[in-house]
Amino acid sequence: MPELPEVETIARGLARNLTGDVIESVWLGNKPEPLKSRPGEIVRVLEQARIAGVRRVGKHIVVDLGLSPVASRQKKPKQQAQWIVHLGMTGRLLIANPEHELPKHTHAILRLRSGRELRFVDPRRFGRLAVVRHGFAAPGAEPLEVSFDSFAGLFHKRKTPIKSALLNQGLLSGVGNIYADEALFRAGVRPRRRAASLTQSELKRLYDALKKVLREAIAAGGSSVSDYVDSNGDAGFFQFQHRVYGREGEPCLVCTTPVKRIVISGRSAHYCPNCQN
Ligand SMILES: [Zn+2]
Repeated sequence: MPELPEVETIARGLARNLTGDVIESVWLGNKPEPLKSRPGEIVRVLEQARIAGVRRVGKHIVVDLGLSPVASRQKKPKQQAQWIVHLGMTGRLLIANPEHELPKHTHAILRLRSGRELRFVDPRRFGRLAVVRHGFAAPGAEPLEVSFDSFAGLFHKRKTPIKSALLNQGLLSGVGNIYADEALFRAGVRPRRRAASLTQSELKRLYDALKKVLREAIAAGGSSVSDYVDSNGDAGFFQFQHRVYGREGEPCLVCTTPVKRIVISGRSAHYCPNCQN
């Protein structure tokens, strides 16, 4: 499942490849799940729109749409409209030439003026496509931009485990299981600790650690961007070394104590019982 760094990397790759191109026509499949806006609305907003930019908001890919020269002559109002893509578990956006074989589970095809196609492929159909006309905002704070005071305020009086609070998308947008575990390890805080019990210095360590792991992972992912936007599209982000996530029973890289795995609210959590308090 793509987390914030993966989505950031994908959005940067798409921005590099697609900005300035124009969506000439749109084909949508007949599976209803991936479409969060009405199909007719998606087609209306996307067709003849110019791709002004692509960026990440939380775990969403936001495609900013502008007017294509043709559409502006026709005075079709498309200003500030956006195409929002959530990749879910298995969603991918692939840039392909039309002669490339269409993968199974293709739910949308955008034909571009450059002659290429942008395809949305999603076998498990947890991904979502939507269009909005007046600006998109994620519900939670942006972890790479939030100030320390706002970050600390999110956990004030919160009785849930800190791990669950980090995953709560209404608090922070885009932090997933892997980077929550990795940030808690670097901060020396156990995942089951009540969020409100963290001291100021623990919160500061967590704040710094979360930004650091997300930035490191974005940097590691940068080299595999091209794989994401090519027709194969299935790149890993394995250059980012996990210190605890997925390492149950293996020695802690700092103290060699075996890494523990527990389950908190149905999600696995990995930590070092010696390094984290
Ligand atoms: Zn340790």
